[in-house]
Amino acid sequence: MKIAFFDTHGFEKEVFCKINEKFDFDIDFLEIRLTAKTAFLAKNADVICSFVNDKIDSECIEILSRLGVKLIALRSAGYNHVDISTAAQNKIVVARVPAYSPHAVAEFAVGLLLTLNRKIHRSHSRVRELNFSLDGLVGFDLFGKTIGIVGTGRIGQVMCHIMKGFGCRVLAYDIKVDTDLEKDGVVTYTDLETLVKESDIISLHVPLTPSTHHLLDRARIEQMKDGVFIINTGRGALLDSKALLFGLKSGKIGAAGLDVYEEEEGVFFHDLSNKVLQDDTLARFLTFPNVLVTSHQAFLTQEALAHIAQTTLESIKEFQLEGSVSQSKTVSSI
Ligand code: NAD
Repeated sequence: MKIAFFDTHGFEKEVFCKINEKFDFDIDFLEIRLTAKTAFLAKNADVICSFVNDKIDSECIEILSRLGVKLIALRSAGYNHVDISTAAQNKIVVARVPAYSPHAVAEFAVGLLLTLNRKIHRSHSRVRELNFSLDGLVGFDLFGKTIGIVGTGRIGQVMCHIMKGFGCRVLAYDIKVDTDLEKDGVVTYTDLETLVKESDIISLHVPLTPSTHHLLDRARIEQMKDGVFIINTGRGALLDSKALLFGLKSGKIGAAGLDVYEEEEGVFFHDLSNKVLQDDTLARFLTFPNVLVTSHQAFLTQEALAHIAQTTLESIKEFQLEGSVSQSKTVSSI
C-alpha cells in the first residue's frame, strides 16, 4: 500500500516511522497541505493520510478519485475539513481516529483555564524582568464556581470529572444525555441557554457541524455572566470570533483560552515569525492580557501521538486486508 501523507509535521513523523516498522507501508511524507491544488501529488497512492488543516472539499475529492485513491485516513477525531458526501459518492472510505486521548485535550483545557485565572502567563513574563510584584495577579478559586461543559462525549466527560474534582458545580449541555454521568452526580444536564446564563466558565467540546457553527454568537455572549471565562479546545468556528472580540473589548468576557481559531488554516502549525500576520482579528486577540492563544496543540501528548499513529496504520491494514474499515472508525457511517 502506498500512502501519501500530507501536511507532515516533525512531531508526528518520528512516531509514524517507528510504528510503521511493524506495518512496513510505503509512506511518502509530504510537508504540503492537501487541497484541490496539491491533490495531484497523490498520484500512485492508494491511501491519503490527512491532518486537520487540509482542505478535502468536493473538488479535491474528485481529483483524488480520478487518481485512484480509495481511502482517506484522517489523523484526527474531527472531520469537518472533509466533504463526506462527495467521498461517499466517489466510493472513497473516510477513516478517523475516534478517540486517541481524551485526557490530553481535557487536561490542556484545564491548563488554559488555570493559566488565565491565576495569570501564570503574566507572572512568568514578569519575573523574567525581575518584577516580583503581585499587583494585578489576583485570580479566583475554582472551588464552588459553576462550569458549563458543552458536549459530554469522550473529551467533555473527562473535563466534567476533572472539574468536579476541583469542587465545581458542573452543568452540561449535549443533544445526548449521558444518564450515568448524571446519576453519578458528576453533572447536571440543562439547556444551552441556562448553561450560558449560569456558568462562570464555559468549555466547548462539541464537534463542528452546521448545527454547532457559531454556537456561541453575540446573542449568546450577551446572555452570559459578566466576567465569564470561555475555553475553546473544540473547533474555532464553534465560537464567533467577531462576537468574542466584542465581548472582550466590552469587558463582558473575563478571559478566553483559545486552542482553536476559526481562521486557523494556513496559520496554526506554521512558523510565521518572519512574516506579517494578515489576520487582524487574530492579531487583536494576541494583544489582550486575558486571552491565551495556542496553536491547536491540546492533543499533543506522547500518548495521543502514539495512539493516532497506531490506529491510523491499523485502519489502513484493515482496509488492505478486508477492503473496509470497522464502523467505529469510519466517518461515513456516523
Ligand atoms: P465525541 O464525539 O466523543 O463527543 C462529542 C459530543 O458532542 C457528543 O456527546 C455529541 O452528542 C455532542 N454533540 C454533537 N452535536 C451536538 C450539538 N449540536 N449540540 C450539543 N451536543 C452535540 O467527541 P470528542 O472526542 O469528545 O471530541 C470533541 C471535539 O473536540 C472533536 O469533534 C474535535 O473537534 C475536538 N478536538 C480538538 C482537539 C484539539 O487538539 N484541540 C483534539 C481532539 C478533538
